[in-house]
Amino acid sequence: MTDVETSTGTRRILLVEDEKPISDAVAAYLERENYWVTAAMDGQEAVNEFSKHHFDLVILDLMLPKIPGEKVCRIIRESSDVPIIMLTAKGEVEDRIVGLELGADDYLIKPFSPRELVARVRALLRRAHIDSKPQREVLEFNELTIDLSGHRVLISGEEIDLTASEFKLLTTLASYPGRVYSRMELVEKVLGYDFEGYERTIDSHVKNLRAKLGDDPRNPKWLFTVHGVGYRFDSPKVEAKDAAD
Ligand code: CA
Repeated sequence: MTDVETSTGTRRILLVEDEKPISDAVAAYLERENYWVTAAMDGQEAVNEFSKHHFDLVILDLMLPKIPGEKVCRIIRESSDVPIIMLTAKGEVEDRIVGLELGADDYLIKPFSPRELVARVRALLRRAHIDSKPQREVLEFNELTIDLSGHRVLISGEEIDLTASEFKLLTTLASYPGRVYSRMELVEKVLGYDFEGYERTIDSHVKNLRAKLGDDPRNPKWLFTVHGVGYRFDSPKVEAKDAAD
């Protein structure tokens, strides 16, 4: 039995960063934490590596030679909901929001401390691991079906493609319909850490989620804004049943 080994170590991380000193420093930190790191120095190499191997997480610089980070992110998202942490040198709010809209789960502004990056990596992997535990539960709200164990969301039987963060956000809200969550609570539950100033990222995830679910914020079916507080999920007809039924 090697359960302990597989649950604690040898998670594979694809590190996409063209600045060698940064790449080397980050790889050294991650390897010290027993992660298996594959370094890609440009966007093309990143896409090639991702198509060849399974990765548990991707760290993706935005400004890259050959294929820019935005496009790499889009290509990865076509086939995978692997957690992605985006690195950006710009630091403008708009750039951060763009990263999240592209489907990244988190972002860090350069210069960042490798220690903080490792903390984010750990939080995202922990969350992905918790998400992957079978819960044998399906939530149904009229045409919206949330399959918790299958990690799928369907509207009228049609599967909706959500990122890991969007899925976590939706399941957090929909598990307790009617309960109001503050942005800060959602940051902790969805992003996996407690960090001041990250409430805006929840707004961005909610916006993406609404677009994908076809939920109009002015006339919401499911996701309601609670002004000055946060968000709640609601549905006129609510039922939860076991997937085994
Ligand atoms: Ca770069």
